[in-house]
Amino acid sequence: MKTITILGSTGSIGTQALSLVRLHPDRYRVAALTAHRNADLFFEQVREFRPAFAALTGVRPGEEPPIPDGLSFCTFAFGPDALHTAAADVPADMVLVSIVGIAGLAGVLDALNAGRQVLLANKEALVTGGHLVTDLAARVGKPLLPVDSEHSAIFQCLQGAAGNTPVSLLLTASGGPFRTWPREKIDRATPAEALRHPNWSMGAKITVDSASMFNKALEIMEARWLFGLPAEKIRVVVHPQSIVHSAVEFADGAVVAQLGIPDMRVPIGYAMSYPERLPTGGERLDLIRMASLTFEEGDPVRFPALRLAGECLRAGGAACTVLNGANEAAVAAFLQEKIPFGGITRLVEEAVEALPGLPADSIDEIYEADRRARQFVAERMKGGL
Ligand code: NAD
Ligand code: MG
Repeated sequence: MKTITILGSTGSIGTQALSLVRLHPDRYRVAALTAHRNADLFFEQVREFRPAFAALTGVRPGEEPPIPDGLSFCTFAFGPDALHTAAADVPADMVLVSIVGIAGLAGVLDALNAGRQVLLANKEALVTGGHLVTDLAARVGKPLLPVDSEHSAIFQCLQGAAGNTPVSLLLTASGGPFRTWPREKIDRATPAEALRHPNWSMGAKITVDSASMFNKALEIMEARWLFGLPAEKIRVVVHPQSIVHSAVEFADGAVVAQLGIPDMRVPIGYAMSYPERLPTGGERLDLIRMASLTFEEGDPVRFPALRLAGECLRAGGAACTVLNGANEAAVAAFLQEKIPFGGITRLVEEAVEALPGLPADSIDEIYEADRRARQFVAERMKGGL
């Protein structure tokens, strides 16, 4: 029996993790849950999974919703400070960080500081604070367990590596809904079109990131910190069927890949039960039924995110944080229909260019770079796009 705390329990990853708890009640017990604002689903989850502590982190003092009857077994908290309590103060064997955006960074650091095993879905924590997070994880002796499907795939491929370091990582990408679209059409895409991902059902932000391929840019950065290889050795391979979840190449030319139906319960479950494997309730891969698996080069002209990832990693400092902060702000503006889809890439490129050389040696410097990137986007949007 393992106890698990889930930060961001009402999201796409959080609810799928809870479906695995539901499937294996003899293996997992929920210690604490946090959600941001979705009170209805949050209280429903508390009723079903009976954590000792639960928090709505996006609720301001004075706005607390009434606590439904029959939940007196749980201590409730409201507001952003409760994230620390859930991550660090409530005892748990593992903490799944499935919050979206840089908001996940504090939760990751808090959980590691408390010596917890972190299961990491939140890629933005490594994009912005990769060096702080990986240093701390090494110091407390709790290496991160990746949940992102590509990184879980690479992690699984490395289980059989017997100490051999890969010479390169092959990071697969579905290519998103605009893979074959011309640039002018991509520039004018609507939120409804960007939210129609061909293979995965995910939260809104990461779905838009998949359409712009900023998701792959963030994943290149995530892979750099998880596996310690430079950007030059991380190759994006567009694979529209999303069956090969990623691969590693060794010195002798052998390529080891992990395959499966696109179903996030597999990487979430692998992190939860690692090193054991348990059923997830999902469909199984039948290679005979796969008509074909295809692979192609990503296009950095239509998807400049692919080029920006390497540039920001090479620039160092807070360049990746600036990319991430500008992207978060731009995606939010796009979803509110304030800017066209093409504006996301334009704003991020301009922010990265306008804010070079910012330091990122401490959490305060990272937050400052994030704030300046968002401020840049807000100011730039006033001029119209
Ligand atoms: P989502 O939007 O569906 O859910 C986000 C969760 O975080 C919700 O529970 C929400 O209440 C909470 N939250 C939102 N803003 C918050 C804030 N400011 N502070 C605290 N909590 C907040 O997102 P998702 O699709 O589940 O993605 C979560 C993370 O996992 C992201 O970093 C994403 O990149 C990563 N990820 C997701 C998938 C996927 O299939 N959904 C796959 C790989 C990686
Ligand atoms: Mg991924």
